[in-house]
Amino acid sequence: MNVCLTGMARAGRYAARMTAPPAGPPPALDAVIVGAGPNGLSAAITLARAGLRVQVIEARARSGGGLRSEPLTLPGFVHDYGSAIHPLAAASPAFRQWPLHAFGLDWVHPSAPVSHPLPGGRSVTLERDLHATADALGRDGPTWKRLMAPLLADWEGLLNDILRPLPRVPHHPVTLARFGVRGLPPAALLGQILFRTPEARALWAGLAAHSTLPLSTPGTSAMTLVLALLGHAVGWPFPRGGAQALADAMRAYLEYLGGSVVTGVTVRGARDLPPARVILVDSSPAVLLSILGDRAPAAYRDALESYRYGPGIQKFDYALSGPMPWQDPRVARATTVHIGGYAAEIAASEAVTQAHPRPYVLAAQHTLFDPSRAPAGAHTFWAYTHVPNGSDHDVQAQIEGQIDRFAPGWQELILARTRTTATQLQAFSPVFQGGDVNGGRGDLAGLLARPVVSATPYRTPVRGVYLCSSATPPGGGIHGMAGYHAALAALKDEFRLIVES
Ligand SMILES: Cc1cc2nc3c(=O)[nH]c(=O)nc-3n(C[C@H](O)[C@H](O)[C@H](O)COP(=O)(O)OP(=O)(O)OC[C@H]3O[C@@H](n4cnc5c(N)ncnc54)[C@H](O)[C@@H]3O)c2cc1C
Repeated sequence: MNVCLTGMARAGRYAARMTAPPAGPPPALDAVIVGAGPNGLSAAITLARAGLRVQVIEARARSGGGLRSEPLTLPGFVHDYGSAIHPLAAASPAFRQWPLHAFGLDWVHPSAPVSHPLPGGRSVTLERDLHATADALGRDGPTWKRLMAPLLADWEGLLNDILRPLPRVPHHPVTLARFGVRGLPPAALLGQILFRTPEARALWAGLAAHSTLPLSTPGTSAMTLVLALLGHAVGWPFPRGGAQALADAMRAYLEYLGGSVVTGVTVRGARDLPPARVILVDSSPAVLLSILGDRAPAAYRDALESYRYGPGIQKFDYALSGPMPWQDPRVARATTVHIGGYAAEIAASEAVTQAHPRPYVLAAQHTLFDPSRAPAGAHTFWAYTHVPNGSDHDVQAQIEGQIDRFAPGWQELILARTRTTATQLQAFSPVFQGGDVNGGRGDLAGLLARPVVSATPYRTPVRGVYLCSSATPPGGGIHGMAGYHAALAALKDEFRLIVES
């Protein structure tokens, strides 16, 4: 990390500062961060690495936010409460700068990033290797290669450009333009135009459905491409021992740098915070408003109050007495399994606002590659489907029936199950309002106004207060880049430090 001194620069509709810096002796803390999710921890580490005195305040008993692991079913079974699969974390330019391995992080790479079972005991696989994936796609193989190869050739540049706020001038305009042309069409349309085989179309649709949007939505091809490229560039690994291991490594590194984390304290307003020069909020726009109080100008308050969320999810964690009995045994080569059948079925499932009778299910089978997460011979299974925002309507029968199409009889292995609803997720972290795991709608408008249109949307109109959660760019997922960019903005604005990202 390179740090240099500079003057202060501010721009943008919301950047006018409403308050002057406090008079009197400097506070004992330079920065206080509300929320120890991946973005809060990432912001704290970035500030601590610049030599600042940093404290994180977290409502839950343990840090991690969406990066938490718990024995959700039976003793001895470790389940990921939130995120399960971490291609974005493995690729994150922030995380890769830090010595997280020295603090206990160990990535587990399955044999293949993604498996997608199909009717008739068949399946299609996203392999790490571009050529192996293409070979298995038959006559669609050359198209897959033509689509991916030019973007993979400048992958690092592309990654840096897409993990920043949209309105910024790109560092790699040619690659970004290439990505934009491919990413702008709706995934359903592009999949139909590009591919001929049901396998390639299904693989594409299964990746696209991560967007949580109808596949007819413009821009859904962008998420599809990013996920496929991540598979080829870094794989879809997960932390050994559970997602919590990544959160614990971040916290340990922060403490090594001199920062601290206080748990079990919910911040309801600015009065709950110790004095500090800057405040970074890893929470929802609504929580940010409660911290800003009447210091928030009306235009900004209106923008945040109309912030839009996407669909929610309903999630099931299973303790199983054995491995999943996939009809096609090759499905066991990947941790992540896209369950939904053919492209048209997945598109139909993602198009409806009510739970579909045959929903798209995103599943993960960690214990095939990390036996430390369950008693000997037993397994965990993590699965969720999309539901309308805030809906707690029970979809167990639909999810389990859909899985049974591709792993007949699997329910006989269930020792215990735990259901987590959209409102439970919101109660767990306000970032997941209505069960939206992305912390805000992921369509083009939602990515552009996150939460407001600005080249530095982390800044608020109140001097020294920043938003750093996934309600800021680049949005949902475990990558810590929202926290990282918010911290860079704070370092520049308040401490006159420019960190080259
Ligand atoms: C079920 C589920 C599955 C997911 N799967 C994946 C996946 O496989 N891969 C992936 O990359 N991403 C996945 N995600 C998304 C990912 O978890 C989120 O995008 C990410 O956690 C967002 O990070 P964050 O730091 O912005 O918010 P959070 O992770 O929600 O962290 C915010 C933290 O701040 C705390 N906080 C908030 N307000 C206050 C307050 N007022 N006072 C004190 N503390 C406060 C919260 O308790 C929480 O710990 C999943 C999410 C869920 C819920």
